[in-house]
Amino acid sequence: MAVPAYQLRYSARRRTLQLQIKAGQLWVAAPVGLSVRQIEAFIQQKSAWVEQHLSAPLPQVPDWLGLGELPYLGRRLQLKVVIDVLNAWTLEGDTLWLQLSSRNKAVNQRRWMQQLVQQFYASETELWFNTQAPGLAAAMGLRYQAIQSGDFKRKWGSCNSKGELQFNWRLMMAPPWICTYLLVHELAHLQHMNHSPDFWQLVAAHNADAKKARLWLRQNQHWMQLI
Ligand SMILES: [Zn+2]
Repeated sequence: MAVPAYQLRYSARRRTLQLQIKAGQLWVAAPVGLSVRQIEAFIQQKSAWVEQHLSAPLPQVPDWLGLGELPYLGRRLQLKVVIDVLNAWTLEGDTLWLQLSSRNKAVNQRRWMQQLVQQFYASETELWFNTQAPGLAAAMGLRYQAIQSGDFKRKWGSCNSKGELQFNWRLMMAPPWICTYLLVHELAHLQHMNHSPDFWQLVAAHNADAKKARLWLRQNQHWMQLI
């Protein structure tokens, strides 16, 4: 095997070579003083492992709309579509009904489905967080002004100096304990507008799952979207 491209990092504290695959790339951590020849000989030795892991497919985003099911607060909803006179959604038990207008162009139906499901998640986001927030805010001794859903690509929530909180609608795809962590996180920003040790201490004091929740989000965020 030819040695694949890799990122090399020397560390004075290291005693042994370490190989890692991160985001589809090979990373090498090496003790100071090891030569490139020695490092590449080691990579050659581990070629079977490297090849297997480098070619592992990137995590796939499930096609929720195509599958006809939606993750929702730790449950699965069945997605059912009916042709009707207008575009709307209705939640009935564990079924989310999508009404699609017969006047929609056929090529746009999928886009309409996506839009309606996103509207459903956004509306549930506002309902869920507005229901949970008063109790938690009181327990933390904090006051907020308003809670809305947000459509963010790279963050789960936000808090501004006016006390307005926003939560990514994609959070409705996660179990409730993840949403609770996010709520505590954004409420804590009412007191600390940063991610200082004091901030994390406040979060931890009101949410024992904070560390686990952050890990869960890192590991699961790839499927929390509509494509
Ligand atoms: Zn934050």
